[in-house]
Amino acid sequence: MYNSNGVGLAAPQINKDIRLFTIDSEQIFANQEEDEKEDYPDAPGYKGVFINAKIVELKGKEWSYNEGCLSIPKIREDIYRNAEVTLEYLDENFTQYIKTFNGITARIILHEYDHIEGKLFIDYIKPLKKKLLKRKLDDISKGKVNVDYRMIFNK
Ligand SMILES: [Zn+2]
Repeated sequence: MYNSNGVGLAAPQINKDIRLFTIDSEQIFANQEEDEKEDYPDAPGYKGVFINAKIVELKGKEWSYNEGCLSIPKIREDIYRNAEVTLEYLDENFTQYIKTFNGITARIILHEYDHIEGKLFIDYIKPLKKKLLKRKLDDISKGKVNVDYRMIFNK
């Protein structure tokens, strides 16, 4: 995740069929100017491992953010997601938690949670827009994309 400048990574992205993901939203805040930090209620962010996470509650207004994904290189789209999520999960020591996250941290969690549900952020974009992206997406699935990290392709 860090080697590819990601702020989250889910097990299915590295071919592991388990419900595990990791996030580090501190990375985002670390690179911000002081006066920008006030815009984010969840600063300074959160770093952690989520095993067998289950969404208990989704709350807050849906807000848009330009998302990207290590599994879909070089494509970014504005995606709406809830501002707050409460999750039940185990950490890396198998300690159980029920915790509420908001802001950018909630967004990263929801993006990674989708991965363990077999869903990608491009599944949220409108059909017409997806049509426009089709060639790029086809190229990615055929391995015709240049990234500085290792990817596995289904040929
Ligand atoms: Zn992703």
